[in-house]
Amino acid sequence: MKDNPIAATTINKDDLIVIAGAGGFIAGALTRYFHDQGFTRIRAIDKKPLPEWYQRTPGVESLSMDLSEYDNCVRAVEGAREVYNLAADMGGMGFIERFRVECLRSVLINTHMIEAAYRAGAERYFFSSSACAYNTDLQQDPNVRALRESDAYPAMAERGYGWEKLISEMFCQEYWAERRMKTFIARFHNVYGPNGTWDGGREKAPAALTRKVIEAQDTGDNAITIWGDGHQTRSFMYIDDCTKGIDMIMHCERLIATPINLGSSHLVSINDLVTMIEDIAGIKMNRTYDLTAPRGVAGRNSDNTFIREVLDWEPNTPLRVGMERTYAWIKQQYADRKAGIYTPAAETGMPSTH
Ligand code: NAD
Repeated sequence: MKDNPIAATTINKDDLIVIAGAGGFIAGALTRYFHDQGFTRIRAIDKKPLPEWYQRTPGVESLSMDLSEYDNCVRAVEGAREVYNLAADMGGMGFIERFRVECLRSVLINTHMIEAAYRAGAERYFFSSSACAYNTDLQQDPNVRALRESDAYPAMAERGYGWEKLISEMFCQEYWAERRMKTFIARFHNVYGPNGTWDGGREKAPAALTRKVIEAQDTGDNAITIWGDGHQTRSFMYIDDCTKGIDMIMHCERLIATPINLGSSHLVSINDLVTMIEDIAGIKMNRTYDLTAPRGVAGRNSDNTFIREVLDWEPNTPLRVGMERTYAWIKQQYADRKAGIYTPAAETGMPSTH
């Protein structure tokens, strides 16, 4: 390995790690990941009540707190050696195009968390940014050129959500430049996998399409409505690659205050993704296209030149493998809910604007 990311840090297994947003998809998986690595002191925090978390890892201190309040951030990071901030009010395109104010208000979480982490003397601070921070003018064609880290500027980010990510990235960079707290910034590209949102309005394309296929199987109505014309392209990163990548990025000195793509570089169209899910389910759907639905940019892919160079690694779980696991999990959730068994995903609320 060119730059051994693990050797770069001196973190001990009994140092306190704080993970924000842990009732959600990625931070929930990250909590389990560090627990499985043998870390004995993990504090997981989310504003959702505990029964609504997708995963709760046994032995982890799990707290329900609103991190848009500064005092709660102070309590959250007390004694922390490392802080992973993945808390955000977010969802798929349907959510981020409709609730821009909510997305922008995540800046409260990010400004308060980084200040509290700094004052608590945390050594390392991780921020989950997004490919939505990239200039949207570069994403108007389904046959896109993959996005390089330098493509965020000149800035023309996704309205609301993307701009909030950009400004929070800048906070991370200035806390390093001015105050010498080591900050790390990963720009995630579409993460998918079990234990994430699969219905209710915040779900993203892989989960939403999988649910639609499962519903169709169940009802015998083989119809599926696809948002947009289906030609829009994306890359999708499996959750296990995401948690591994976060760990490697956070512990790589070369990446201090340096945004880096964390995503798959395997581009697929939404139509191809539907075909794959049909294949997994053993069903053929009648497709209709809703051209008025939110569809996001025409194409988006991750240029992984930089991550390959720095970490000698890139997300590599084949889409088919990850989608089979995702399909199996959503199918079970669907069956459980139908049988009247409680499923946390059903409880995820949408914002109320009044
Ligand atoms: P998620 O919605 O499943 O998890 C986010 C969690 O943050 C939720 O459980 C939510 O309750 C919590 N949260 C929101 N406001 C809070 C507050 N005020 N205080 C405490 N907790 C709060 O989303 P995710 O997919 O796990 O995303 C995690 C991070 O990764 C986010 O920052 C997101 O913007 C970023 N990201 C995700 C993707 C993706 O494809 N999932 C892509 C790019 C970036």
